[in-house]
Amino acid sequence: MNEKDKIYGTLITDFANAKTTDEASLKYLENISRVFNLSPQFTETEKRNFTTMEAWETRLNKLETRICHTIMEEKKYKLYLNYYFRHLASVLIGCDVEKKTLLLSHYNQELDFDNLDENGHPTTPVVLTDSYEIPIEDIAKRLDEKRELDLEPEKITDLYDDIDKFIKVNITLGKIKKRVSANRYLEIKELGPEYEQSIDTHQRIESIQIVLRRLLDDIVNEVDVSESPAFKGIMERYSKINALAMAVTSKEDIVKNPFPQLESLLTTDGDVDSFEYYDVKFYNEPISYCVVMFLGKLENNEFTKNPENISHLKKCKNCFDFFISIKNDKRTKYCRKCSPKNKMTKKERNEYMKDYRPKRKKVLGRRKREALIKQYMESGDTMEQAESRISS
Ligand SMILES: [Zn+2]
Repeated sequence: MNEKDKIYGTLITDFANAKTTDEASLKYLENISRVFNLSPQFTETEKRNFTTMEAWETRLNKLETRICHTIMEEKKYKLYLNYYFRHLASVLIGCDVEKKTLLLSHYNQELDFDNLDENGHPTTPVVLTDSYEIPIEDIAKRLDEKRELDLEPEKITDLYDDIDKFIKVNITLGKIKKRVSANRYLEIKELGPEYEQSIDTHQRIESIQIVLRRLLDDIVNEVDVSESPAFKGIMERYSKINALAMAVTSKEDIVKNPFPQLESLLTTDGDVDSFEYYDVKFYNEPISYCVVMFLGKLENNEFTKNPENISHLKKCKNCFDFFISIKNDKRTKYCRKCSPKNKMTKKERNEYMKDYRPKRKKVLGRRKREALIKQYMESGDTMEQAESRISS
């Protein structure tokens, strides 16, 4: 296996093996820099810019995290509901749980409901009248009086469902916000959008990890890669970026660095509109690229496998991490850390066995379960039936 392929393989396995999304991202920043020969400042700057979940734990304690999350939930339902209330030329302010009413405010000029701030209020200054109340039960009727709003029965169910959630979130918020000072509450509220964005990024990282693990599992279980659903998704993304890169750069440039935008993205931080784009570009596409480069090559829309690289990919029998073995030896079963050849002290050995046994037991249990499911399915059960038979 050549050096470059080893780097692709390392990036993929490190990302899949990472126990936390913090670890996945920080390792990725180092690996991606090696893959594309990015400038030395790249990793440092990006590492600084990336907010780890660990950092969030020091910024917000458990209760504060819950408050922050609830504030964001409240905001979300406010936005959903304001979609309806624009037909009353109003904006939702809050609710009175006791009186079972919603508090709204009239705007006495034309509103641009496509531009609402984080609280669901218009960003352009408009004149706001005093707030008024509507009993919750009257809301559908009031909206129905507005002809332009076609309130079908499902829409009414959705609307009341959202109102219900909005009220519940307000009740929770009312209770928990009392447990911090008013000042602290404002600080938490201010952190909300940043926190939400960060959580979103971590969730994306996690979902890429899941897909990668599925793919690598398929490979070590000798499923033909072109048959692996995880691979199909990755391939689709790869074809897209490749076509895009082809359109703007020469072929030599693509080989050198198919992601010229990666580094330039560094300078666009703070550009909220491009955030989703940024995330997708930043993790998904380069990872898809590395997967394709490691597993084979794509020429004229035809993917050819690289059986040599594939045979170097292993899953450790002890810690279940994926790894690229140096020697292409079918007998290699353990990663470097777990290899019996790795000289350990007696204490280290004991620690290792302590971890090894329960994990081993879990794997054996899973294998037994899989064999049973297979057996049931062969005798005519569907997957669900087989699963419920085992758990009953
Ligand atoms: Zn291992």
